[in-house]
Amino acid sequence: MAQSCDAIIIGAGPAGLATAAALRAGGLSATILEKSDAVGAVWRRHYDRLHLHTDRVRSSLPGLAMPKAYGRYPSRAQVVEYLEAYAVKFDLAPVFNAPVQAVRREGRAWRADAGEKSQTAPIAVIATGWADFPHSPTWPGMETFGGAILHSSAYRNPAPFTDKRVLVVGFGNSGAEIALDLAEARIDVALSVRSPVNIVPRELLGLPILVYPAAEQWLPPRLADKVNAPLLRFAIGSIETLGLRRSAKGPIQSIAEDGRAPLVEVGALGAIRDGRIRIRGDVASFARDSVVFRQSPAERFDAIVLATGFRPDLRALLPGAEGVLSGTGAPLVSGRPTAQPGLYFCGAIPSSLGQFRQIGIEAQRIAQAARSLGAAARS
Ligand SMILES: Cc1cc2nc3c(=O)[nH]c(=O)nc-3n(C[C@H](O)[C@H](O)[C@H](O)COP(=O)(O)OP(=O)(O)OC[C@H]3O[C@@H](n4cnc5c(N)ncnc54)[C@H](O)[C@@H]3O)c2cc1C
Repeated sequence: MAQSCDAIIIGAGPAGLATAAALRAGGLSATILEKSDAVGAVWRRHYDRLHLHTDRVRSSLPGLAMPKAYGRYPSRAQVVEYLEAYAVKFDLAPVFNAPVQAVRREGRAWRADAGEKSQTAPIAVIATGWADFPHSPTWPGMETFGGAILHSSAYRNPAPFTDKRVLVVGFGNSGAEIALDLAEARIDVALSVRSPVNIVPRELLGLPILVYPAAEQWLPPRLADKVNAPLLRFAIGSIETLGLRRSAKGPIQSIAEDGRAPLVEVGALGAIRDGRIRIRGDVASFARDSVVFRQSPAERFDAIVLATGFRPDLRALLPGAEGVLSGTGAPLVSGRPTAQPGLYFCGAIPSSLGQFRQIGIEAQRIAQAARSLGAAARS
């Protein structure tokens, strides 16, 4: 029989932990169901060189600041250590090895099916992130390609690519940093860039880049981008001469309207400028040992890294939860009440404030909404 509590949280990443701490602070009991055997499972398997692009102060979750000793941009290992410390501080003790197959309405409660670890509660928070939904596009001839093809989420470090010619497809934050990682290991690397891009420095005038959208929250995104444009142009310089196109929408508007985070420059642009990373256009097709580009001749490659993002589809996890997901299964709102009473998502939609910061804000909003819901049910 399923155990019951005030709230079930699915996932023990930053969003699940922050929401559990906020609910507990409001006097509600919360059980976290986590399919892996540790907190921060996704951060444990990110690529080795990863550091936060957002600064420590603005990436700390509510109630526990990241230690100063981490520096301004904590490493992947420090993020993991921080999430462990966060769980200890708030005594969160997730139920591990509890993969939730489905969350369903059962009378006035939600039931999370996880075999003998199933739970029911009036509140259910989906904090499952995007990592389970890598998006890997297909191109004609791809099945004939003889080399390795992997998604960026499976990339760890350059070691397996020594002496290989590698094509990284996609110029988001992961694609840029993986291409840089390969270039720094003196591996022959090209980067396929299909769309116009927004590139921002990690710091502007000595301040972390997140300071700017946070200070300009009261401005419409288009206007905030207009205000920032001259400084950004000055900081980044010309990208058109490198074969890149600048996005017509600014970074803040792109996040707000399309959920597309800007590329934070941590060295890839420099490597493109000095020729260590070659820019290529859109991929048209694959052959046995080469890739054909739309606007340039075919080139030989031994391995392909698809840094083509994630497309969460939660339809299987939420059967019958009408009105909360888009046609492709992406949550419609995050950190606010959904069309289903007691059902919330945390950290499900990209934010210009930085995702850790947004997760903290949403966790507190969810706790507040959950308390009001509980009070209304009791009255
Ligand atoms: C490479 C990379 C770098 C990033 N860098 C930054 C940055 O610098 N700053 C920033 O603010 N944001 C950054 N982000 C974005 C975001 O902050 C992180 O992805 C963050 O980990 C999201 O937290 P989360 O809890 O929503 O999801 P996750 O960290 O993905 O955690 C989800 C958890 O849910 C569990 N889970 C999933 N499905 C189930 C299920 N069915 N049952 C039980 N458990 C389940 C998973 O095992 C996992 O532990 C980055 C993202 C990536 C991919």
